[in-house]
Amino acid sequence: MNVMRPIRNVDDLAQAGLIDAGEALSLEAVAERYAIALTPAMAKLIDRSDPADPIARQFVPDVAELVVLPEERADPIGDHAHSPVEGIVHRYPDRVLLKAVHVCPVYCRFCFRREMVGPQGLGTLDAATLDAAFAYIRDHREIWEVILTGGDPLVLSPRRLEEMLSVLADIEHVKIVRFHTRVPVVDPLKIDGALIAALKVSGKTIYVALHANHPRELTAKARAACARLVDAGIVLVSQSVLLKGVNDDPDVLAALMKAFVETRIKPYYLHHPDLAPGTSHFRLTIAEGQKIVAALRGRISGLCQPTYILDIPGGHGKADIGRNAVHEIREGCYSISDYRGGEHIYPPAE
Ligand code: SF4
Repeated sequence: MNVMRPIRNVDDLAQAGLIDAGEALSLEAVAERYAIALTPAMAKLIDRSDPADPIARQFVPDVAELVVLPEERADPIGDHAHSPVEGIVHRYPDRVLLKAVHVCPVYCRFCFRREMVGPQGLGTLDAATLDAAFAYIRDHREIWEVILTGGDPLVLSPRRLEEMLSVLADIEHVKIVRFHTRVPVVDPLKIDGALIAALKVSGKTIYVALHANHPRELTAKARAACARLVDAGIVLVSQSVLLKGVNDDPDVLAALMKAFVETRIKPYYLHHPDLAPGTSHFRLTIAEGQKIVAALRGRISGLCQPTYILDIPGGHGKADIGRNAVHEIREGCYSISDYRGGEHIYPPAE
């Protein structure tokens, strides 16, 4: 198969040589539940001779996804509990998520919103729903930052992005607009002049939080795409997920963080993997994660240090688990303090 076109199903994976015929049959059951997509850039990056390739592990489905543990949940970080109107998540006073689109250019096998994204997911907000979401932001003067996430907001056309951003431009109390995206890495040529022009909103500061998990993802083309954004005055920060078999090694993680800093991207969050259904094969224990993160301390510059965080299940927000917010009560069971001082047992009881 020509890897110049996107991969969207099990047949495409087989034709691209990413799975064999025997696997294809068993993976249909996974495909029925969770969306599949790889961009040509990511398919090309996979080393087909390596059965444990860290890029393949992130995007090529695995039958292990059919194993759902009791503590896993469809909404692992509790978006629904904080959604006053469709498309908005208002978890912290000064900022909201605006989930305008539930489509991504790739579907990560560990995705925390895997029950919401993809062709069978929540789709794209229609005009009336989007208007209601903007009205919510307009009516809540405490909202200082709007985070466009989803899905991946940079799958939208420059024209659609410009329309949305022009609405935010007129809301005086919103000062920061942040995009959560994988596009500069997985589809770097999409970061062109038209898209960058659309992202620049007069009177607002624009941040892009780039999601990447392995240093090989920062290819020359990806770095050039990031450079175009930074040169345009957009601030870049990173987001990564600590994933078993992908980056659960201090050397790999150090190389990833250094690659971010070299690309003018400030390492921001390293997420402990969420309790999304069928993702236990990616999860380490918190103690294992803390050990890896501690190993980064003496190894790489302070500029390269991310904050290791857990989104507390149930919508209680983020906790810095690299530091004092977590206490092991007994083996594998922790008490986590949220930002209000509340204590939560992790993993939670079913
Ligand atoms: S890009 Fe983000 S929202 Fe989309 S599948 Fe990956 S983790 Fe999920």
